[in-house]
Amino acid sequence: MWRLIRQFARTGYSDEPAPTAEDAWRHEEQKVHREILDLLGRALCIRQIDAGSCNGCELEIHALNNPYYNIEGLGIRFVASPRHADLLLVTGPVTLNMKAAVLAAYDATPAPKLVVAAGECACTGGIFSGSYAVCGPVSSILPVDVAILGCPPPPIDLLRGILTACRAR
Ligand code: SF4
Repeated sequence: MWRLIRQFARTGYSDEPAPTAEDAWRHEEQKVHREILDLLGRALCIRQIDAGSCNGCELEIHALNNPYYNIEGLGIRFVASPRHADLLLVTGPVTLNMKAAVLAAYDATPAPKLVVAAGECACTGGIFSGSYAVCGPVSSILPVDVAILGCPPPPIDLLRGILTACRAR
């Protein structure tokens, strides 16, 4: 124990330097915020639906809420019910077990509603194409406004896709 304390006293704590703010993203952030207000004039509410993904896409979507991307600060927020949503963000291939739930969420979303397919599986079926357990990509059961490719798509691509859908409104 004393040996360890003496070693700490001699060497100090080695730690990583704190990350520096990336100026490029800060400029982008202000631009995105302005764009959202110009497009919508209010917050954009998203209901995320996992139609059968491996959860890789969800991890990237979660990152949108971290202090770096801070999408709540941009006026975009995730809601718990499709009844409060403007946009459905769907991940994964549509599995047979989730088909009815996805259709029910779509029906419950007030018009005008947008659908964004996020990730390779949602856009094309990806690695699950042809599986006995899936119906196919999201577009096989719903009209999709924007498809965001990538396995998984990084947060900035997700943000771009969401904005592209809003512009198409
Ligand atoms: S696109 Fe990739 S990360 Fe997203 S659900 Fe499919 S396999 Fe998983």
